[in-house]
Amino acid sequence: MQSIESAAVVLRGKERILVFTGAGISTESGIPDFRGRNGVWTRVDPAEFTIDKYLRNPDTRRRSWQMRLESGTLTAKPNKAHRAVTRLWRSGRMLACVTQNIDGLHQKAGLPTQALVELHGNAHVARCVGCGDRQPTVDVVTRVQAGEDDPSCLLCGGILKIDVVFFGEMLPPAATDLAYALASQADAVVAVGSTLSVFPAAQIPLEVAQAGHPLVILNIGPTAFDDLAAARIEAPAGKALPALVSALT
Ligand code: ZN
Repeated sequence: MQSIESAAVVLRGKERILVFTGAGISTESGIPDFRGRNGVWTRVDPAEFTIDKYLRNPDTRRRSWQMRLESGTLTAKPNKAHRAVTRLWRSGRMLACVTQNIDGLHQKAGLPTQALVELHGNAHVARCVGCGDRQPTVDVVTRVQAGEDDPSCLLCGGILKIDVVFFGEMLPPAATDLAYALASQADAVVAVGSTLSVFPAAQIPLEVAQAGHPLVILNIGPTAFDDLAAARIEAPAGKALPALVSALT
């Protein structure tokens, strides 16, 4: 594909590539996009799932755990695109991966924790909002399956919640700070499967581009930063990203 060659030319000689990933990298793993045509928010009203409602309303929590059970996020497997990111990291030319995703698929594809920043948290971890205790989400979901529709913390009785950023919640400051620091060190950015329209997350690739470094966009459909892109690939991530990484390594 010609656009992959153009992207490879743009990234030639770059040694600190920042990879920025969104929902589009995981759709081929069976995880629905949020804002796409068949996205979660076309079926569920996001206004129903703010942090305020979650904390106040047991029914919101029941529906939230039920959605978690049905979403397939916990059992999904990484695809070729996630593995290509890991391959780029191992080649030594990648600075880090900053992701908007909460599915944990980069780790499952072998990307080490120190190479990954999860801006919106990780759905595989559940946290008590009372005492802060953390445990695998699968343990909480097992209780839901056994009939506890709104399981509470076994230590303090507090409300349990998956460790992801809900609507109306701040992004975790440590992750955000780290992402900005990485953006300032990058010499190129490859944005995969994101419409680059959700802020503040989309600010990260924008920082790299505004510092004068090339932005490569791999996405199906337009993005907010298409005008800024040095190269643009319109293709499924699982097909195009392995080809791009092979051209670079
Ligand atoms: Zn607790």
